Amino acid sequence: MTTSTGAASAGSSALPSSGSSSAAIEVEERALAHNYHPLPVVVASGDGAWVTDVEGNRYLDCLAAYSAVNFGHGNPRLIEAARAQLDRVTLTSRAFHNDQLGPFAAELGTLLGKEMVLPMNTGAEAVESAIKIARAWGYRVKGVADGRAKIIVMDGNFHGRTTTIISFSGDPEARADFGPYTPGFVSVPYGDVDALAAAIDDDTVAVLLEPIQGEAGVVIPPAEYLPAVRELTSARNVLMIADEIQSGLGRTGTTVSSDLSGVVPDLYLLGKALGGGIVPVSAVVGDAAVVGVIRPGEHGSTFGGNPLAAAVGREVVAMLSTGEFQERASVLGARLRESLDGLLGRGVVAIRTAGLWAGIDIDPAIGTGREVCEGLMRRGVLAKDTHGSTIRLAPPLVVTGEELDWAVEQLAAVLDELR
Ligand code: PLP
Repeated sequence: MTTSTGAASAGSSALPSSGSSSAAIEVEERALAHNYHPLPVVVASGDGAWVTDVEGNRYLDCLAAYSAVNFGHGNPRLIEAARAQLDRVTLTSRAFHNDQLGPFAAELGTLLGKEMVLPMNTGAEAVESAIKIARAWGYRVKGVADGRAKIIVMDGNFHGRTTTIISFSGDPEARADFGPYTPGFVSVPYGDVDALAAAIDDDTVAVLLEPIQGEAGVVIPPAEYLPAVRELTSARNVLMIADEIQSGLGRTGTTVSSDLSGVVPDLYLLGKALGGGIVPVSAVVGDAAVVGVIRPGEHGSTFGGNPLAAAVGREVVAMLSTGEFQERASVLGARLRESLDGLLGRGVVAIRTAGLWAGIDIDPAIGTGREVCEGLMRRGVLAKDTHGSTIRLAPPLVVTGEELDWAVEQLAAVLDELR
């Protein structure tokens, strides 16, 4: 856990200056594809919930790499697991077995009550893998006619940015100029059971959804929605696929966010925090009757399931198996919610939280989410805007209650400045 103390250290020079932010940003501008629009902060190191920039300024990280750093920067247990594996073997490819992958799959399956794991690297790859599994299951098990498999997705979804995934994205920035698009997807309004029921037909093999839509702004569906989706998909012999890549692994105060509504999907998609903030590790997790449809040669990845990734993933699973991090997210999440509620009417128009995850809608009249995040950055807090006037907070789960209170104070101050 971090020993940093919030306001006193934020913005101060904790480290000797080792460079200039503007020079580093200038190099990036020239040499790096412009596929992101980052805040003008150049991080040089991290420790727990805090990062330090090249000029020695410290910031409370309230994004945690979109939940990939749930266990904090440089988590000692995870670093030790990685270090130990670095000394043994890091990559074998799946042409051979390695001694970490089998135990990783078994332990991850046990954590989620499922039988089989397909390991990959990035979140988008896990989504792509699930699409292939669902289609193969549709043809080989359900008996859908060749080439007709249909997958239902949700308006407002974010599942990554590969060509197939952006084919069913509603986000014009992710989609425009990248066609032609992959067919076989139908999108329905999120949270609307009747629309989903009407869209399911005999060719439908799966419903793919985020139990909480993260990139959309931590959008939480009505309480009865996910149980109704489960009931409907089971009744119509359709797979339910929960993309828990951002919402899973402790963030919402539960192991996966599906647990909040007591729903067990057919497939869980995991990524981000599964790699402990160290290496990209993702997985499709389900029962053998579904994941087992994939045969040798049909799917894979050179790095997927590598021993370094598996060793780190095993430590992540071990850390989650005690429930300690889930409990912490739940308790701290309640505290965060309480202090955020005090901002309603003071420049904040709506707040949605689940565990230690918050979507905060700023009154567009006072500024954009980006402007708020820039103001927070100047005050030593890093957060990310999404969709115009919404900001998202997702600090590492090792953050302290006092640090959270301080972060909300900074947000209040930024809103006051803008009003
Ligand atoms: N699915 C969800 C819900 C996500 O939030 C993300 C990334 O933000 C992805 C998939 C894609 O993950 P990656 O960026 O690792 O490909």
